[in-house]
Amino acid sequence: MAQEKPSMLVVSAHAADFVWRAGGAIALHAEKGYHVKVVCLSFGERGESAKMWRKPGMDMAQVKLARRQESLKAAEILGVSDIEFFDLGDYPLRVPDEALFRLVDIYREIRPAFVLSHSKEDLYNCDHPLATHVAQEARIIAQAHGHTPEKPVIGAPPVFLFEPHQPEQCNWKPQVLLDITPVWEKKRKAFEVMAAQEHLWEYYTRVARQRGAQAARNSEKAITYGEGYARVFPQVPEVLG
Ligand SMILES: [Zn+2]
Repeated sequence: MAQEKPSMLVVSAHAADFVWRAGGAIALHAEKGYHVKVVCLSFGERGESAKMWRKPGMDMAQVKLARRQESLKAAEILGVSDIEFFDLGDYPLRVPDEALFRLVDIYREIRPAFVLSHSKEDLYNCDHPLATHVAQEARIIAQAHGHTPEKPVIGAPPVFLFEPHQPEQCNWKPQVLLDITPVWEKKRKAFEVMAAQEHLWEYYTRVARQRGAQAARNSEKAITYGEGYARVFPQVPEVLG
């Protein structure tokens, strides 16, 4: 059902990616009254759950369930309005046409003001670039007048790409630095829910401080924590400054 309030769409390859990479943007916009929709293409059950697999007697169903529960808990802390798990598998993620069209339907239904997904390249992870490819392909199909003509096409929501784990290797540059200082405690609390990836907590706190310092340097604002994004399409502002 179409919402009256503005909405944003986050397309996450694995169940935790949206927390590490976009938790600040999610919490910030949720507080501003946006409807936040998150799509997790997989649970990250094979490739991003190493700690869980070290427990004796672990199996795929238990890992998926645990990752789902963590993800739901983190989403609640961040203020996500709606989350869907496509359960397409990871390492490797594979996206059949039904899943692509399901995502197109989501674009048409929520008509996002902007979209967040992964970097276009990631030498360390093939699922991440595939997720962003699918997010962009679905966006283009949702703009096509001949696709399910009974549902109105979407406009041109800007697309912002998450910061990958090692930006230099992924040809990713921070073109947008978002001040997430006001919601930092929520982001930290949300990623502490990710018990399977405890090794990343301090790492992503450092990343947020680094981007915060750079955001302060590129503005006249006191910013402590930041989140970086690359842009896909040209920005179309009313004025330049
Ligand atoms: Zn991931």
